[in-house]
Amino acid sequence: MSRPLDGETIGVLGLARSGVAAARLALARGARVYASDAGTGPAQEQAAARIRGLGGDAETGGHDVAKLAGCTRIVLSPGIPPTAKILAEPAIAHVPVVPEIELAFEQLESRVIGITGTNGKTTVTGLVEHILRAAGRNAAAGGNIGTALSELALRVPQPEIAVVEASSFQLGMIDRFAPEIGVLTNLAPDHLDWYPDLEAYYADKKNLFRNATPASRWVLNAEDERARTLLGDAPGERFYFRVASQPEVGERGGFLDPEGWLTLRMDGVTQEALAPAFEMRILGRHNAANALAAALAARLAGAEAEAIGHALRTFEAPSHRLQPVGERDGVLWINDSKATNIASTRVAVRGMSRPVVLLLGGRHKGEPYTELLPDLGGNVRAVVAYGEAAEIVAKDLAGHVPVERVDGPFEEVIRRARAIAQHGDAILLSPACSSYDMFPNYEERGRRFAELAAEVRK
Ligand code: ADP
Repeated sequence: MSRPLDGETIGVLGLARSGVAAARLALARGARVYASDAGTGPAQEQAAARIRGLGGDAETGGHDVAKLAGCTRIVLSPGIPPTAKILAEPAIAHVPVVPEIELAFEQLESRVIGITGTNGKTTVTGLVEHILRAAGRNAAAGGNIGTALSELALRVPQPEIAVVEASSFQLGMIDRFAPEIGVLTNLAPDHLDWYPDLEAYYADKKNLFRNATPASRWVLNAEDERARTLLGDAPGERFYFRVASQPEVGERGGFLDPEGWLTLRMDGVTQEALAPAFEMRILGRHNAANALAAALAARLAGAEAEAIGHALRTFEAPSHRLQPVGERDGVLWINDSKATNIASTRVAVRGMSRPVVLLLGGRHKGEPYTELLPDLGGNVRAVVAYGEAAEIVAKDLAGHVPVERVDGPFEEVIRRARAIAQHGDAILLSPACSSYDMFPNYEERGRRFAELAAEVRK
């Protein structure tokens, strides 16, 4: 689609990885650039210096409203929410604000697969990239997954296929972003700390379908009513995945056959067996769903069934997602730090085959923990409630499951969990909250958990 940006002045908000990549891309395509970040620190200074070195204007420690007001467009980094104060400045109200993925999309010649949903985005995006590469294709993942989409647009040559993980915030602001294949993994409550209500959150996700054409292909979750119907009557072909039920007659998509094989029916009839779900290294029914969603997207992009089946067997769980990080004295430690909402903690608990000491807590995001009760009865030995959310967690669950509230630091939380766990148990960090009360991000929380798992004794 690559369109030149000569004559444009692009404002870039945020000088982390995506912002820097967007600024470099805009400069490379002939635009003037003004990039700014409210923060100060060595990382921001270095980023600003880099942009200046390429001929752009950049500042840290705040935004120059007059310069932003003179921009033809403002590009928003994924880390900055649309509720950021700077965006409410009346002086810049006339300047269109676009997400980083929009600018990058305009500059991509690659085929684009777009992936969104409440949970499973990173897993599915990684899977699609892994499958396509195993099938010999030049595919690369970008977006909310470590590599900014602008970085893919800057590559020479660009990848043949860009696999894009899109967050709801980024999708909510798109204009022309139009994946030829789009995957919606599922929809569940999340980000109630940002959105006024759930409908607003789902409306942003719906933007995946905004520029649908009859040539679009959509991969949808047949067993999630909201996700299945979100696209309404948008044009494009539909393919469905399901893991707890059998497909309807003539349904095109993927399912688990009675022997547990991940199976596709691209034409609604002919079966293509990929691999037994139990031979994958990613565990749990939700990961069978993720695998089918990814397999469908890769198949639609041209990968053959045999290559897909092989690739599914070799894909490793991304870090911090139900990742076993050690077993000591008969206790298995599982890091699921990325579980930052109720729905992701629910699938973690459901996937456990051992008695579990569950660490729940962090910064509360607005969902009631009572939603977890139906799944906590079976094999949860105890819940350790901690962090800012400790009081709400304890209040929501007390009387239904054993709950221990720990108000101390994370080290104490872990010591307490270890004291409760018995030989043969798992200690599961699947906190259903964000990490920001105690850590800079979920990765740090997961890393600290793994460190302590190797140190703490009963
Ligand atoms: P996202 O990128 O959407 O946050 P991830 O793949 O990073 O998704 O997984 C986030 C969390 O959600 C992890 O705890 C993971 O175990 C869980 N998860 C992954 N796939 C699903 C799914 N299909 N349904 C529910 N939870 C899931």
